[in-house]
Amino acid sequence: MSGNRTLTMVKPDAMRKNHGGAILAKIEEAGFRLVATKLTKLSLEKAGEFYAVHKERPFYGELIEFMSSGPIIAAILEKDNAVADFRTLIGATNPADAAEGTIRKLYATSIGENAVHGSDSDENAKIEGDFFFSKLEQF
Ligand code: GDP
Repeated sequence: MSGNRTLTMVKPDAMRKNHGGAILAKIEEAGFRLVATKLTKLSLEKAGEFYAVHKERPFYGELIEFMSSGPIIAAILEKDNAVADFRTLIGATNPADAAEGTIRKLYATSIGENAVHGSDSDENAKIEGDFFFSKLEQF
């Protein structure tokens, strides 16, 4: 059975361009409910912890430098089939391959600086939600 929550981050590139509010609006318009939200900034160490699964990938260093380069918005989102539907809404990792109307097509710059994160499984959605938010902060 698919779960009903996912974790997103508006990444530093989109925050630097003042697209945080527009991206949250698109997410809400697509039927996702905000369960938890915060503006925060990852340290290099915390970004490394979040992306530990990518440790062996050649872009890991670049990724965690970028993700700790400025403030982000982290949010837990709720909707039926949240993980898959949210990945459809954000589009392909590389904005050049992202479908028209997707958040990455609209707001991302490159495969690395791609505006938003979306969990890739229900299991990771739970782990990532708990990474940013205590139980008291999840509504
Ligand atoms: P996602 O699930 O669509 O976010 O993609 P992945 O799990 O494959 O990669 C995680 C994140 O690493 C992506 O969202 C990008 O920010 C970054 N990333 C992926 N591929 C590359 C790459 O080739 N170069 C760089 N610099 N970053 C990448």
